[in-house]
Amino acid sequence: MAREPLLRPDDDARPTADEGPELPERQGYLEAESDDDRALRPQRMREMVGQRAVYERIEIAVDASIKRGEPLGHVLFDGPPGLGKTTFATCIPRDLGVPFQIASGATLKAPKDLIPYLTNAEERSVLFIDEIHRMQKAVEEFLYPAMEDFRIDLTLGEGVNARTLNMQLKPFTLIGATTRTGLLSAPLRDRFQMREHLDFYSVDELAQIVTRNASKLRVEIEPGAALEIASRSRSTPRLANNRLRWVRDYALSRADGRITLAVAREALNMQGIDSLGLDPQDRKYLETIVRVFGGGPVGVEAVGHTMNVPADTLIDEVEPFLLRSELIVRTPRGRRITPAGLDHLGASGSVPLEDTQPGLFER
Ligand code: ADP
Repeated sequence: MAREPLLRPDDDARPTADEGPELPERQGYLEAESDDDRALRPQRMREMVGQRAVYERIEIAVDASIKRGEPLGHVLFDGPPGLGKTTFATCIPRDLGVPFQIASGATLKAPKDLIPYLTNAEERSVLFIDEIHRMQKAVEEFLYPAMEDFRIDLTLGEGVNARTLNMQLKPFTLIGATTRTGLLSAPLRDRFQMREHLDFYSVDELAQIVTRNASKLRVEIEPGAALEIASRSRSTPRLANNRLRWVRDYALSRADGRITLAVAREALNMQGIDSLGLDPQDRKYLETIVRVFGGGPVGVEAVGHTMNVPADTLIDEVEPFLLRSELIVRTPRGRRITPAGLDHLGASGSVPLEDTQPGLFER
């Protein structure tokens, strides 16, 4: 497997005419990011909004690592998608001033897939593995001595002639990210010195992100419009950015380019984003539970089959916000809509309340 170049601390900054030629291709899926995505992603931890408790702990660990001249301890981030796991993981090496590599757990199918990253890792550099819960078991076990003793055990030959070769690695930092800590084995989880959970953002924090990003995108935005976008983004910075970009396009095409409150509302309504920030898929999930499964309890797989959406997508992307907003609850027998969930469907006109089954909550 060809070795891929390490990313230097400032590689991620967008090159300008003064900074010379385009930088080499970036590794992994971050290549798929559009210019807008890259422009909006904070480059340093101090540019990040919210998550103060996590930020402060990481800042202390980064500071101490620089002062000690030793690698930062391994860090695991968990939490729903779009809350800043990748952003933390890419800001940390820049703050440390060290190179970093990016891998995805889904593509690490055998130890040999991981070897180039480990042997490439420079002293104190960062290896970021996204979706680390998707790594195969054999890869995970191969990683244990690398994390603990900066050593890998290579098996050469087969059968009776097999020999094990220990190879020393440079001390590095592993940063893992996962939407499902529950799927990580205890031995892997325990090998991370820091485990940080990212939570949903407040409307004020998102409004701050939207306002700042509107200026990065060079569009004028009314404070009320920033609040409107923030409150309809399911408490998630990634969605706030997506909504902002759509509203910007709408403002350009249908108005004079300025994002007023009226423009923001029209644009979001046109996308079917409701007052809570739920999109048509979120509402369809709630409607399916009500119409097809009598309000639940129902297993997420059954809902997924009915909607023709993988259960994993529902678990990762749809359910966390609905659970947190108490529109659904998880019971031992499956998911169940709450009175608030039912009210919301009624209020948004998706399911008239009289259509729902009588006695839904009387069981
Ligand atoms: P995750 O890896 O958890 O799925 P990301 O780190 O990719 O989420 O975040 C998605 C986008 O949201 C980023 O590209 C960035 O623009 C924005 N974002 C995330 N966290 C923050 C934050 N704390 N402050 C400002 N923007 C953020």
